[in-house]
Amino acid sequence: MKIAVYPGSFDPVTKGHLDIIERASGIFDKVVVVAMVNRKKKKPTFSLDERCAFLEKVTTSFSNVEIKSSDALLAEWVKSVGDCVLLKGLRAVSDFESEFQQALINRKLNPKLETLFLPTSEEHLYLSSSVVKEISSLGGDISQFVPEEILEDVQKRLLGGE
Ligand code: ADP
Repeated sequence: MKIAVYPGSFDPVTKGHLDIIERASGIFDKVVVVAMVNRKKKKPTFSLDERCAFLEKVTTSFSNVEIKSSDALLAEWVKSVGDCVLLKGLRAVSDFESEFQQALINRKLNPKLETLFLPTSEEHLYLSSSVVKEISSLGGDISQFVPEEILEDVQKRLLGGE
Protein backbone atom coordinates (compact mmCIF):
# COMPACT_ATOMS: atom_id res chain seq x y z
CA MET A 1 0.00 0.00 0.00
CA LYS A 2 1.36 3.44 -0.95
CA ILE A 3 0.95 5.83 1.98
CA ALA A 4 1.74 9.57 2.00
CA VAL A 5 2.15 11.52 5.22
CA TYR A 6 1.32 15.20 4.73
CA PRO A 7 2.55 17.25 7.71
CA GLY A 8 1.91 20.90 8.52
CA SER A 9 0.59 23.38 11.03
CA PHE A 10 -2.77 23.81 9.27
CA ASP A 11 -3.47 26.88 11.42
CA PRO A 12 -6.10 26.83 9.87
CA VAL A 13 -6.36 24.51 6.86
CA THR A 14 -6.75 26.52 3.62
CA LYS A 15 -7.98 25.72 0.12
CA GLY A 16 -4.28 25.45 -0.82
CA HIS A 17 -3.76 22.63 1.69
CA LEU A 18 -7.01 20.97 0.62
CA ASP A 19 -5.94 21.02 -3.01
CA ILE A 20 -2.74 19.15 -2.10
CA ILE A 21 -4.75 16.64 0.00
CA GLU A 22 -7.25 16.05 -2.81
CA ARG A 23 -4.58 15.54 -5.47
CA ALA A 24 -2.58 13.26 -3.15
CA SER A 25 -5.65 11.16 -2.36
CA GLY A 26 -5.87 10.38 -6.08
CA ILE A 27 -2.22 9.31 -6.27
CA PHE A 28 -1.72 7.35 -3.03
CA ASP A 29 -3.73 4.50 -1.48
CA LYS A 30 -3.84 6.41 1.78
CA VAL A 31 -2.99 9.97 2.87
CA VAL A 32 -2.27 10.63 6.53
CA VAL A 33 -2.54 14.36 7.27
CA VAL A 34 -0.70 15.18 10.46
CA ALA A 35 -1.21 18.46 12.30
CA MET A 36 2.06 19.20 14.06
CA VAL A 37 3.27 21.28 16.93
CA ASN A 38 5.85 23.45 15.18
CA ARG A 39 8.38 24.75 17.66
CA LYS A 40 9.89 27.14 15.12
CA LYS A 41 6.62 29.00 14.51
CA LYS A 42 5.03 31.32 17.04
CA LYS A 43 2.15 30.03 19.17
CA PRO A 44 -0.63 28.80 16.86
CA THR A 45 -3.94 30.69 16.73
CA PHE A 46 -5.99 27.48 16.79
CA SER A 47 -5.38 24.65 19.25
CA LEU A 48 -4.20 21.30 17.95
CA ASP A 49 -7.70 19.88 18.59
CA GLU A 50 -9.36 22.72 16.67
CA ARG A 51 -6.94 22.32 13.75
CA CYS A 52 -7.67 18.57 13.61
CA ALA A 53 -11.44 19.13 13.84
CA PHE A 54 -11.23 21.54 10.87
CA LEU A 55 -9.16 19.04 8.91
CA GLU A 56 -11.67 16.25 9.71
CA LYS A 57 -14.56 18.44 8.57
CA VAL A 58 -13.05 19.38 5.21
CA THR A 59 -11.85 15.88 4.31
CA THR A 60 -14.95 13.79 5.11
CA SER A 61 -15.56 13.14 1.41
CA PHE A 62 -12.13 11.50 0.96
CA SER A 63 -12.37 7.91 2.19
CA ASN A 64 -8.59 7.34 2.04
CA VAL A 65 -7.60 10.43 4.07
CA GLU A 66 -6.89 10.12 7.79
CA ILE A 67 -6.25 12.97 10.24
CA LYS A 68 -3.67 12.67 13.03
CA SER A 69 -1.78 15.02 15.32
CA SER A 70 1.69 14.88 16.76
CA ASP A 71 4.12 16.86 18.86
CA ALA A 72 6.91 14.36 18.24
CA LEU A 73 9.87 14.46 15.88
CA LEU A 74 8.37 13.82 12.44
CA ALA A 75 11.18 11.52 11.24
CA GLU A 76 10.48 9.25 14.23
CA TRP A 77 6.69 9.66 14.27
CA VAL A 78 6.30 8.38 10.68
CA LYS A 79 7.57 4.99 11.85
CA SER A 80 4.19 4.52 13.58
CA VAL A 81 2.53 4.82 10.15
CA GLY A 82 4.78 2.18 8.56
CA ASP A 83 6.11 2.29 5.03
CA CYS A 84 5.36 5.81 3.74
CA VAL A 85 6.69 8.90 2.01
CA LEU A 86 6.50 12.47 3.27
CA LEU A 87 4.51 14.81 1.08
CA LYS A 88 5.05 18.56 0.94
CA GLY A 89 3.37 21.30 -1.04
CA LEU A 90 5.53 23.88 -2.77
CA ARG A 91 4.35 27.40 -3.46
CA ALA A 92 7.44 29.28 -4.48
CA VAL A 93 11.21 29.11 -4.60
CA SER A 94 11.17 30.51 -1.07
CA ASP A 95 9.36 27.35 0.14
CA PHE A 96 11.86 25.18 -1.68
CA GLU A 97 14.93 26.22 0.27
CA SER A 98 13.61 25.28 3.70
CA GLU A 99 11.66 22.25 2.44
CA PHE A 100 14.78 20.93 0.69
CA GLN A 101 16.78 21.34 3.90
CA GLN A 102 14.06 19.58 5.93
CA ALA A 103 13.88 16.74 3.41
CA LEU A 104 17.63 16.13 3.69
CA ILE A 105 17.60 16.34 7.48
CA ASN A 106 14.63 13.97 7.72
CA ARG A 107 16.49 11.47 5.53
CA LYS A 108 19.57 11.77 7.76
CA LEU A 109 17.41 11.05 10.80
CA ASN A 110 15.47 8.28 9.07
CA PRO A 111 17.35 6.98 5.99
CA LYS A 112 14.26 5.18 4.66
CA LEU A 113 12.20 8.36 4.60
CA GLU A 114 11.78 9.98 1.18
CA THR A 115 10.11 13.38 0.64
CA LEU A 116 8.00 14.11 -2.42
CA PHE A 117 6.90 17.59 -3.48
CA LEU A 118 3.65 18.58 -5.16
CA PRO A 119 3.60 22.01 -6.75
CA THR A 120 0.70 24.21 -5.74
CA SER A 121 -2.09 24.95 -8.17
CA GLU A 122 -1.67 28.41 -9.67
CA GLU A 123 -4.68 29.87 -7.88
CA HIS A 124 -3.19 29.02 -4.47
CA LEU A 125 0.30 30.34 -5.12
CA TYR A 126 -0.04 33.27 -2.73
CA LEU A 127 -2.16 31.51 -0.13
CA SER A 128 -0.98 30.71 3.40
CA SER A 129 -2.64 30.29 6.79
CA SER A 130 -1.04 33.52 7.99
CA VAL A 131 -2.48 35.51 5.05
CA VAL A 132 -5.93 34.12 5.91
CA LYS A 133 -5.53 35.14 9.55
CA GLU A 134 -4.34 38.62 8.69
CA ILE A 135 -7.17 39.32 6.23
CA SER A 136 -9.88 37.94 8.49
CA SER A 137 -8.71 39.72 11.63
CA LEU A 138 -8.97 42.99 9.69
CA GLY A 139 -12.55 42.18 8.67
CA GLY A 140 -11.73 41.05 5.11
CA ASP A 141 -13.51 38.31 3.18
CA ILE A 142 -11.69 34.96 3.36
CA SER A 143 -14.32 32.86 1.58
CA GLN A 144 -12.06 32.30 -1.46
CA PHE A 145 -9.28 31.00 0.73
CA VAL A 146 -10.90 28.76 3.35
CA PRO A 147 -13.06 25.65 2.69
CA GLU A 148 -16.75 26.44 3.01
CA GLU A 149 -17.41 23.81 5.71
CA ILE A 150 -15.25 25.66 8.24
CA LEU A 151 -15.57 29.24 7.00
CA GLU A 152 -18.02 30.43 9.64
CA ASP A 153 -16.12 28.89 12.55
CA VAL A 154 -12.79 30.26 11.37
CA GLN A 155 -14.22 33.74 10.78
CA LYS A 156 -15.92 33.82 14.17
CA ARG A 157 -12.77 32.83 15.99
CA LEU A 158 -10.52 35.25 14.11
CA LEU A 159 -12.83 38.20 14.45
CA GLY A 160 -14.22 37.61 17.91
CA GLY A 161 -11.35 35.71 19.48
CA GLU A 162 -13.91 33.14 20.78
P1 ADP B 1 1.55 27.66 6.09
O1 ADP B 1 1.57 28.04 7.54
O2 ADP B 1 2.72 28.14 5.31
O3 ADP B 1 0.24 27.91 5.42
P2 ADP B 1 1.73 24.79 6.84
O4 ADP B 1 2.85 24.59 7.78
O5 ADP B 1 0.37 24.55 7.40
O6 ADP B 1 1.77 26.12 6.05
O7 ADP B 1 1.95 23.92 5.53
C1 ADP B 1 1.90 22.54 5.42
C2 ADP B 1 2.34 22.14 4.03
O8 ADP B 1 1.42 22.66 3.07
C3 ADP B 1 3.72 22.64 3.61
O9 ADP B 1 4.32 21.63 2.82
C4 ADP B 1 3.39 23.86 2.78
O10 ADP B 1 4.40 24.13 1.83
C5 ADP B 1 2.11 23.40 2.10
N1 ADP B 1 1.25 24.51 1.68
C6 ADP B 1 0.79 25.53 2.45
N2 ADP B 1 0.01 26.37 1.72
C7 ADP B 1 -0.01 25.86 0.45
C8 ADP B 1 -0.60 26.28 -0.80
N3 ADP B 1 -1.30 27.40 -0.88
N4 ADP B 1 -0.39 25.50 -1.88
C9 ADP B 1 0.35 24.39 -1.79
N5 ADP B 1 0.96 23.94 -0.67
C10 ADP B 1 0.78 24.66 0.44
